[in-house]
Amino acid sequence: MIPDKNMQHNQSALVLHSGGQDSTTCLFWALKNFKDVRTLCISYGQRHAQEVEIAQKIAATAGVPFQVLDASVISLLADNSLTNHSMIMDQEKPDNSYPNTFVPGRNLFFLTFAAVIARSHGIQNIVVGVSQADYSGYPDCRDTFIRSANATLNLAMDEQFIIHAPLMWLSKAETWALADQLGVLDIVKNETLTCYNGVPAAGCGHCPACKLRNEGLKQYQKSEQL
Ligand code: ZN
Repeated sequence: MIPDKNMQHNQSALVLHSGGQDSTTCLFWALKNFKDVRTLCISYGQRHAQEVEIAQKIAATAGVPFQVLDASVISLLADNSLTNHSMIMDQEKPDNSYPNTFVPGRNLFFLTFAAVIARSHGIQNIVVGVSQADYSGYPDCRDTFIRSANATLNLAMDEQFIIHAPLMWLSKAETWALADQLGVLDIVKNETLTCYNGVPAAGCGHCPACKLRNEGLKQYQKSEQL
């Protein structure tokens, strides 16, 4: 049954949560901005099953409902190095293309799943931790894509979803600053998993995700000392 439209739509949010730095920061951002928050963790055959466990643990720490959705079909559609464990992961963005960590269509699938689930709970707000400021330039992390997906999902379901991407224009250092402002710097630093090699917290230190995360933290800490 679809919940009554008169319920407090604006007070509730669904956060797409992977257990990484960005989506965990978004989770605590949502807790500050909305009364009722729940998380959705999408499992799509990524290299490390412990991502799901970590996301679940963080949701428990935050005291919010946690849901995991099996979307492993995404990994059957096209090869990428996050789901195909025999591929060697690109360390840099190749010229004129995307690194093989790019999962084509991922955020469109994720937002569609999130919107359908949000609707079933009478939730209007969807929070996603994408950023176009500091990444490999994945097309589905860009602001225009998010706006377009928002319009499409509203039309597809005749709803008024609002997709929030609070990190869209933040550098990694600024994302660390946001975690600090929200009072969760230690949780994000110690509990999350961003590393492509599956090492939690500061990670392996040499994969592209670790480099971005650790350099951002260093930069933020340096700016704090000034
Ligand atoms: Zn790493």
